[in-house]
Amino acid sequence: MSLLSVRHISKRFAGVAAVSDVSFDVQAGELLALIGPNGAGKSTCFNMLNGQLKPDSGQVILDGVDVVGKSPRQVWKHGVGRTFQIAATFGSMTVLENVQLALHSYRSGVFAVWQAMSHSHRQDALSLLEQVGMHEHADRPCSVLAYGDVKRVELAVALSNQPKLLLMDEPTAGMAPKERNELIALTKRLVIERQIGALFTEHSMDVVFGYADRMIVLARGKLIAEGEPNAVRADPKVQEAYFGT
Ligand code: ADP
Ligand code: MG
Repeated sequence: MSLLSVRHISKRFAGVAAVSDVSFDVQAGELLALIGPNGAGKSTCFNMLNGQLKPDSGQVILDGVDVVGKSPRQVWKHGVGRTFQIAATFGSMTVLENVQLALHSYRSGVFAVWQAMSHSHRQDALSLLEQVGMHEHADRPCSVLAYGDVKRVELAVALSNQPKLLLMDEPTAGMAPKERNELIALTKRLVIERQIGALFTEHSMDVVFGYADRMIVLARGKLIAEGEPNAVRADPKVQEAYFGT
């Protein structure tokens, strides 16, 4: 059984078929890239996987449970971690406090800054920060970090619920090539160590071809290709829809 089985999901917005009958799987230990031109339906897909949007039809089966109809919080509880396209850390709080808050929020069900700090979860937060290479920055406010480092903190935050599946919508947007490669290499290492699945959208083909185990391609809401990156790259349908040749 796959870790994640997406079956025939569709979503329309006022006449626009944003996602049409899309099916794919993610295995444990796998880093899967989702690519496609702007407006292809990538974010809509993500939002249907994390409970933000309810598909008009179809199933999203994570670890044997259909999560369609569950709230984002329930889906998070069930084991989906996510990062956001726009940095979602609290700049005035330290690196450590951001992770403490995430851990506290998951464990107590209460999103409360003061409680989180007094409750600590300090060791576990430091351990997560060590896993993303940010423990030496633990006491710095997030607002002073380099952008690539903020993304690492976000990854630690996304891991605070011990997710089975990580969703990352354009995690490397706005990053320099070197930082991009480092972030995805780190993600890949975590995916293997933790035997979780990760799905990410990405514009840089160097990153996709360098790190993704498999890729899926969306165009105008439809899944047009899927497989090992080199095979997908050679697919004429992909060449036409995505690379515009
Ligand atoms: P991508 O992330 O691949 O760029 P999106 O999933 O954001 O694509 O968008 C897919 C299509 O759905 C686009 O045509 C977009 O305009 C439309 N769309 C996305 N979200 C909404 C919304 N909330 N309301 C109306 N149309 C939307
Ligand atoms: Mg998008």
